[in-house]
Amino acid sequence: MTTIVPPRERECERCGRTDTWDDDSGTWTVVEENGERLTGDPYCLHEWDINGAYNPLEEGA
Ligand SMILES: [Zn+2]
Repeated sequence: MTTIVPPRERECERCGRTDTWDDDSGTWTVVEENGERLTGDPYCLHEWDINGAYNPLEEGA
């Protein structure tokens, strides 16, 4: 039996950027640690460590 739980957190495998899911705004929010935002490399083509098939926005629905 498999239970699919939408990810609440994601991390880029390339630059280390870390996001958490914000229910209020419905978007990913950059994690802050010690007052510093873990935005990683702004030019990185982020490779998130979650299943790429997951799309919370369901475009075109
Ligand atoms: Zn990245």
